[in-house]
Amino acid sequence: MNLETLDKQYVLQTYARNYTNFVKGVSSTLFDEQGREYIDFASGIGVNSVGHGHPILVEAIANQAKKIIHISNLQVIEPQVKLAEQICKLSNYDGAIFFANSGAEANEGAIKIARKYGETKFDKKRYKVITLEHSFHGRTITTVKATGQESFHTPHFSPYPDGFSYVNEIESIYGQVDDETVAVLIELVQGEGGIEPFEKEQVQALAKFLKEKNILLIVDEVQTGVFRTGKMLASNHYEIEPDIVTLAKGLGGGVPIGAVMTKHKDILTFGDHGSTFGGNYLSSSAGLAVLDVLSILHDSGVLAKTLSYFEHKVKVIAHNYNHLFEKEVGLGLMRGLRAKDSNIVSSVLENSMNEGLIILKAGRNTVRFLPSLTITTDEIDEGFRRFEKAIASI
Ligand SMILES: *Cc1c(COP(=O)(O)O)cnc(C)c1O
Repeated sequence: MNLETLDKQYVLQTYARNYTNFVKGVSSTLFDEQGREYIDFASGIGVNSVGHGHPILVEAIANQAKKIIHISNLQVIEPQVKLAEQICKLSNYDGAIFFANSGAEANEGAIKIARKYGETKFDKKRYKVITLEHSFHGRTITTVKATGQESFHTPHFSPYPDGFSYVNEIESIYGQVDDETVAVLIELVQGEGGIEPFEKEQVQALAKFLKEKNILLIVDEVQTGVFRTGKMLASNHYEIEPDIVTLAKGLGGGVPIGAVMTKHKDILTFGDHGSTFGGNYLSSSAGLAVLDVLSILHDSGVLAKTLSYFEHKVKVIAHNYNHLFEKEVGLGLMRGLRAKDSNIVSSVLENSMNEGLIILKAGRNTVRFLPSLTITTDEIDEGFRRFEKAIASI
């Protein structure tokens, strides 16, 4: 039986899938079973941060697999400890980390920290978390409720946990705060919501206000973190030090790992939280290799060059095809083109795939680019050649 038939028979159909069968990847180029090559401007939704088949990552995983893949979190795990240290150092953040396996799980951890903080640090218990419309925080029952998009809160999965409310912009958070508010959870650049960066002054003012009120600022850096925006954290760009930061997507280079980092090291204690797999030998070693590669790329200035080259290319497209796109949006290697309508987005995605270019879509009618941070200039050039071909006929 062919793959599509088997998929439809044995895999729950929760995704609108494309059935190209990829069998190999090198850097930002993927190959299907017919040997056809594709330029990858998606990196698995911002996951393959060092591209496909990066020798340092591959070797780290293979070497670790030969030694120990997994021992429970009841033992100390050397690569996990080192990874925690590296994340804090590269983020310039005086915190401690709990490791999970995904972005949603990292956010669950963040919400648990906030809830316990609200229960233990105030006379009257605080538990409410404010999030933004167009946000995305995950697919578990709690994180889907934290996600500020009404379409996600379908009655199919109700009842949802209480305590989440949504506002449509940062300025509206102030009016929403009450004496039960414990935290504000935001992305600095909304990813699924359409590659929407917030203004630095706005975010800094919010951070200052929340600090004065002892309300926690949780920044969901699941998509923006791990050098995606050019620095280890988007929070570094915004020059804020959130109470809690979550990471996942790019951290393991494709090996599942999530992290919740906080400067409130005393809130969670023995027995408060746990994960069977979180931060095991394999995923932590992958994370360490990824951070090795990316910190060198950052310190050498190569990452900054890639970023500005890619940004320039997107800007040129936005300018030359302004009958299709309203504007160019983004920060670092999180970039998007706001299309005039959703039909344009669908055609751009379909035509691009036919031309051998993998891209993504996002909310607010956005064509989204999340290339690997190690993408080469040649791959960028070839990708945009294909992109222009794809959009020429629209
Ligand atoms: C992808 C994403 C998540 C969810 O991550 P999963 O690993 O799919 O659970 C949460 N927040 C943001 C900002 C994301 O981009």
